[in-house]
This record gives sequence, structure tokens and C-alpha cells, in this order.
Amino acid sequence: MGLSGFFEILGLLVTLIIILGIIIIIISVILGYFLVKKNKLLFPEVFLYIMDNFHPILLKLCLMIGTEDTFYRIGIDFYNRYYYHSFKGAERKVLILPHCLRDVRCPAKLGINGVECVFCKRCPLGDIIKVAKENNYEVYIIPGSTFIKRILKEKKPTGVFGVSCYRDLFYGMNYLSRKGIPVQGQPLLKDGCIRTSVDVEELIMRIKDNR
Ligand code: SF4
Repeated sequence: MGLSGFFEILGLLVTLIIILGIIIIIISVILGYFLVKKNKLLFPEVFLYIMDNFHPILLKLCLMIGTEDTFYRIGIDFYNRYYYHSFKGAERKVLILPHCLRDVRCPAKLGINGVECVFCKRCPLGDIIKVAKENNYEVYIIPGSTFIKRILKEKKPTGVFGVSCYRDLFYGMNYLSRKGIPVQGQPLLKDGCIRTSVDVEELIMRIKDNR
């Protein structure tokens, strides 16, 4: 094959990639429009495939009309809807809570399974953990994402409910979705490294609902 043949094939490949990108963008815009504006989940399997594998393109698209958080919000909402029933039916559920929800005077120690709450009532985590355990969840307060990988490896959950900031929650749900694990997620109301907050009432309601 000569140099001109090589460039011909390269040109063809680039054209195909561009066409594929345009098709993905058009489909995403249509499905995203129905999800956000009409509250309808059309062709969920197609949207799942795009969300799982082409989210960087969707993010760039979303940045033209909104913020990064707008995209994460749409993604989290999509995963919550898509996995609602399969998560509900999961036998081994885990709830992963971020350590930043703790009170700054939290007396809990960091152990092999994350932060070990002693239910001092200084923050809402104690109450959330109690409700989750009553509803057959294993609960972990984690200080970082490496804990999640270990929990997945050791506990092999069939459903994961995460609480985190928009960005981390989206990428966490995306990661689990690509592994075929049903997910649910609740974003923080106020993020940061300490003194974050979450809608406790809504979270508890969702934990009970997903029993
Ligand atoms: S309730 Fe648990 S997590 Fe919250 S401050 Fe007390 S020991 Fe720490």
C-alpha cells in the first residue's frame, strides 16, 4: 500500500468517526431533551450505552448550554431512573456515605471498613446508618475512592447507593454502571471537604423505598 492509499484509509476512518460523533450527539440531544423537558426516558438502553461510554462528548455538549453540574445532574437523574427497579430488587445492597458529612468533632476512628461511627448524634450520619441497617444495607463511611474498589472486591454488592458531590457521584455511578451494578445516588446539598450537608429526610425516604 502506497502513501496515498494510507492517507485514503486514514481520511475514511476520520470521516467515519466524525459521522459517528454527529449521530451520537443528535441521539443524545433528542433523548436528553425528552428526559429533562418531558420527564420521559426514551430508549433507555441506547441512552445507557451513550452515557456509560460517551459521557465526555455529552459533557462538552452540555457545557455549551449549561454548567458541568448541569450535566452531572442529568447523568445522576438518568442513572437513578434507569436502575430504580433493578436496585430495588438487589439482594446485597451497600450504602456508601462520604466522611465529609461528619461533624468536625466526630469521635469516630478510621478502621479497615472506613470511619466507624459511634452514634454520638453530632451529625446525621448515625441516624442514616441506623435506618439503612434496618433496611438490610451494609453501610460504609468512606474517606476516599480506593475504599469503594475494596468494598466491591470484598463484599461483591449487587446494588450500590452512593452519596457524594455531583461530580464524584456521577463518575462513581458511571463506573458501577459500566460494571453492570445497579446504582442509586443522592447528591450533597453543600459540598466541600468538611461540613457538607445532605437532604437527610429525602435520603432516608429513598433508603426505605429501595428496600
Ligand atoms: S454520629 Fe457518627 S459520624 Fe457523626 S459525628 Fe458522631 S460518631 Fe461521627
